[in-house]
Amino acid sequence: MEKYDYIIVGAGPGGNALAYALKEQGAAVLIAERDKWGGTCPNYGCDPTKIMMALVEAKYRAANLVSAGLHGNLSIDWQEMLARKRAYSDAIPSSTEQGLKNAGIETVYGSASFQTDGHLDVGGKAYFADNYILATGARPRVLDIPGNEYLLTSNDFLELEELPKRLVFLGSGYVSLELAQIANAAGSEVSILTHGALKIRGFADDFATSYIKQLQKEGITFTDNFSPERLEQTESGIVIISEDNRKVTADGVISAVGRIPNIEDLNLEAVGVKTTPKGILVNEFLQTNNPNIYAIGDALDKKQPKLTPVSGFEARYLARYFTQDGQIEGIQYPAIPTVIFGSSKLAQIGQTQILDKENEKKIDMTDWYTYKRIADPLSKINVIVNDKNEILGATLLSTVAEELVNILNFCINQAINLDKFQNMVMAYPTIASDLFYLYD
Ligand SMILES: Cc1cc2nc3c(=O)[nH]c(=O)nc-3n(C[C@H](O)[C@H](O)[C@H](O)COP(=O)(O)OP(=O)(O)OC[C@H]3O[C@@H](n4cnc5c(N)ncnc54)[C@H](O)[C@@H]3O)c2cc1C
Repeated sequence: MEKYDYIIVGAGPGGNALAYALKEQGAAVLIAERDKWGGTCPNYGCDPTKIMMALVEAKYRAANLVSAGLHGNLSIDWQEMLARKRAYSDAIPSSTEQGLKNAGIETVYGSASFQTDGHLDVGGKAYFADNYILATGARPRVLDIPGNEYLLTSNDFLELEELPKRLVFLGSGYVSLELAQIANAAGSEVSILTHGALKIRGFADDFATSYIKQLQKEGITFTDNFSPERLEQTESGIVIISEDNRKVTADGVISAVGRIPNIEDLNLEAVGVKTTPKGILVNEFLQTNNPNIYAIGDALDKKQPKLTPVSGFEARYLARYFTQDGQIEGIQYPAIPTVIFGSSKLAQIGQTQILDKENEKKIDMTDWYTYKRIADPLSKINVIVNDKNEILGATLLSTVAEELVNILNFCINQAINLDKFQNMVMAYPTIASDLFYLYD
């Protein structure tokens, strides 16, 4: 029987960050992982997709400058792009596990599940701890319909040896939109089928429409109100048949209809931890209804976006909570930026609706110097400011929105108004130096 101060289940960005922080405090820490050390983000998520996306961004930024005299046809070679992605991702699991071991954190490989006496079983061996932290993340949801054995997931997409000629994505969340752009830019004929109306959940309709129009211009087709009822393999390809009997044929179909929390295998009933289909329920201290069991990251049922930096933020909170014996305030989330990457990026942070004494500025940025310089075809922002001229929130679309949203992140979370901003000198010409226009 092995006994620890803390056992963490899941070695993704959340679990790893917490393991290091607790080890730094001198605690005995064990971390269990059943798949790839490093978790979703560096193996199946943010990092490999953005390594591929770098080529998409370069291709379209060059295309935007054709009228400025930049000529030549850029094409993406799927195999070479895949090799570059693999060179990055394949090294992650071993280097992550080695890093944990070097820090003195114990590691165990296998699927962890609770037993009725409260201990954790990994690979038939019993492990005990004063506190357990569940950081088990989420996995792609596969539609439960006949023929779903023909469906691929985002994990499969990132390992496709050949890019299918016709590729269909089910769903219009950020995973679908990003992978669709990678496939389209690499030469596949890409369609996105959405269950309901064509929207991007969480984003204002006018921004979502502009973003989708850009993708359509690049060659992606969208079909809305398409509810897949079954899939059939035929000689001409995989046929997706809708409830109203419409048919779409493809060489590959990616189910990108959301993610489900990894909670079933933990046997949480044995320790009385409550869950919902969206994840593990916790209080403001990230504690489950079993006082010795906590949870962080994508495995939670929470209203905050399920993203890597959010898992890390929760890990840092919990490390502070344990150092201070639970004598701290509940977790307070700051304004959290979200970004959909692509040839253009759609981003959002903070408040998106105006309340009392607030003002919304709708600004077309195409005439701003930065966007003229790089010939950004669509760049716009809606900003909400209060009566002290502090920025409270924004929705933005441009090829560099992921950078601007982080600058706004500082302005919002540090309450920087025009006076404070005017006391700084920004390098010029940059995205940050444009900020003056936002406060005008
Ligand atoms: C295609 C894609 C693109 C993404 N892009 C971005 C992006 O650009 N920016 C961003 O911020 N986020 C992005 N994300 C989301 C991001 O990857 C996750 O929010 C992040 O990885 C969550 O971290 P986590 O530690 O909570 O969980 P995870 O990273 O999912 O790690 C959980 C780990 O727990 C392990 N585990 C589960 N159950 C058990 C068990 N019973 N026993 C042992 N181990 C177990 C799993 O194998 C996994 O390794 C993307 C996700 C996907 C799929």
